[in-house]
Amino acid sequence: MPREYTYGPFQSRRLNLSLGVDILPRKKCCTYDCVYCEIGPTGPTQLVSPEFKIRAKPSNNFRKELIDILKHVPHLSSITVGYNGEPTLNENLLDFYNVAYKVREELNWTSEKPKLTLFTNSSTLYKEEVRERVKQFDLILAKLDSATVEDFERTNRPHKDCHSLKEIIDSLIKLRREMPKENKLAIQCLICNSYKEDFVSNSNTENITRLAQAIKLIKPNLVQVYSIARIPAQYYVFAIDEVTKQKIATKFKNIINDDSVEVKYY
Ligand code: SF4
Repeated sequence: MPREYTYGPFQSRRLNLSLGVDILPRKKCCTYDCVYCEIGPTGPTQLVSPEFKIRAKPSNNFRKELIDILKHVPHLSSITVGYNGEPTLNENLLDFYNVAYKVREELNWTSEKPKLTLFTNSSTLYKEEVRERVKQFDLILAKLDSATVEDFERTNRPHKDCHSLKEIIDSLIKLRREMPKENKLAIQCLICNSYKEDFVSNSNTENITRLAQAIKLIKPNLVQVYSIARIPAQYYVFAIDEVTKQKIATKFKNIINDDSVEVKYY
């Protein structure tokens, strides 16, 4: 049976052995068009408002597909929803979660059960019903890599209906407060460099300082600083080096100044 929902499992830098789950239609569908996106540019028909709703429910094949793969991978670390755009646009996200949760509970694992993990670009979290769904996941990987309006516009290139950066940061603060204590929030900061003289990348000092200040308010469990690892949507951006990642992580730690917030770079 051809696969309908899953990718991998593959070894991930931040999740170890992870099975990807795509709950969007086959085409990319996102509220952003990030310059560094490793899926490719978000075309005009693929760039959608955060109010856009996808109503795809899991078919019976979803459960079967998960079991067929996972029975061979008892050492899996994460079942990870994301990969082809913004998964919270699918209003049936919790139906997928519930199927994956049941399958995880039914199967035998050699060590810890895999986490149920969700990627989000944070653009839909201003909606209470989306936060309600998202907070069920064991681990939420929420994007925040721009903290000035200029960097947000340049780097993430949001749909015109996206809410302001301030509202996005406020919704992450709310999500953190509303989440069950046992679940974890990681803020993901993809920082890139630029070859183009007239393109200021999000590695600029002002953005890094403001990001750290925003993260201090959010108080996530973890901050992940990383960079481009595959071909980006725009040719003019490229990965920052290891020394720069380390410097950014150190600056974050100094400004956040909170031992409960772990800062890692990859
Ligand atoms: S939010 Fe994610 S999927 Fe959407 S354009 Fe940015 S990197 Fe790509």
